[in-house]
Amino acid sequence: MTQSRAVALTRELIRCPSVTPADAGALDVVEKALKGSGFETHRIVFSEPGAADVDNLFAKIGMGAPHLSFAGHTDVVPPGDASRWRFDPFSAEVSDGRIYGRGASDMKGAVAAFVAAALRYVDRHGAPKGTLSLLITGDEEGVSINGTVKLLEWARKRGERFDHCIVGEPSNVSTLGDMIKIGRRGSLNGRIRVIGKQGHVAYPQRAENPAPIIARIVAALSGHELDKGTTHFERSNLEFSTIDIGNRAVNVIPGEARAEFNVRFNDVWTHDSLKERILKVIKQAAPGANVEVEFPPSNAVSFITKPSHFTELVVEAVRQVTGLTPELSTTGGTSDARFIVNYCPVLEFGLTNETIHAVDENARIADIDGLCAVYERVIERYFEQ
Ligand SMILES: [Zn+2]
Repeated sequence: MTQSRAVALTRELIRCPSVTPADAGALDVVEKALKGSGFETHRIVFSEPGAADVDNLFAKIGMGAPHLSFAGHTDVVPPGDASRWRFDPFSAEVSDGRIYGRGASDMKGAVAAFVAAALRYVDRHGAPKGTLSLLITGDEEGVSINGTVKLLEWARKRGERFDHCIVGEPSNVSTLGDMIKIGRRGSLNGRIRVIGKQGHVAYPQRAENPAPIIARIVAALSGHELDKGTTHFERSNLEFSTIDIGNRAVNVIPGEARAEFNVRFNDVWTHDSLKERILKVIKQAAPGANVEVEFPPSNAVSFITKPSHFTELVVEAVRQVTGLTPELSTTGGTSDARFIVNYCPVLEFGLTNETIHAVDENARIADIDGLCAVYERVIERYFEQ
């Protein structure tokens, strides 16, 4: 069987059991391939008290602007019970045109595809007029504190100025080319505590019941329209996950009531403006009541890369290779793109996400080669400008 460089690299990477925070030789595979074609490479180990040290890789070729970067991770989630897998999760077995193994689609296949595309570009055109770089971390699936955040800061201190970035997360739903992620909703949790006054149900004038108050607050927040959605986002949504009083005595008016909620919000809001609105709605629903509201810290802000020349360039490359026009979407959970957006416009395009984090994770060989072709087309067009 002849296999492309992208496929060979994918299999080599899967054979490194790099369950976060272990590297198991995965970054060596990437570094060796890039170094051989003239990339300057840096390995940076970050540490933090109480967390495992994590190895990271920064590689670049060319200099100055424009600077296109690819961001990815070589760490993977644990395979779970390996006996439930069709093949050993770190053997990179090929069957029915697919490579099986942990990380095949999240996201060793995409890292391999980008490396192969970059090497092919350099073989054909030499170093770009500008900078082509790779930010590869071993700390994405874990706590994400010794990875992309620190790597970006390290690169900035060295004088790197990123103009655009592609993250190789598996963005497609079922077919290569069906979806590009251009942003994500933010997330905010809240805890409400209504303090009343406990007493006998027969003497309500001596007590203050928090139950009807919390009911009014829950109804008001649940029914409150935060916004009507924006061009690229669904409407923001608040959901209560629990309401607790926990009083089992039928003759007792409870002393306090609690409730918790989560908001998934779009680009209309910041954490601060959202908190302000929530407090206002609570105040209107329960004027004069003794209510405490707490918002646990969150770094999940909402972000969007507005459709631009860059997004159009990627859409066009996807269209040329796959024949599909990808949907520009803001759905799904969080990724390292939320950190990169503080440096430059970022979008996510990788393999399909059908089997990620699951038993028998796999990637179609045709998709890995197709993704490599898309990336190469993007690099070519980007440095043609
Ligand atoms: Zn991932």
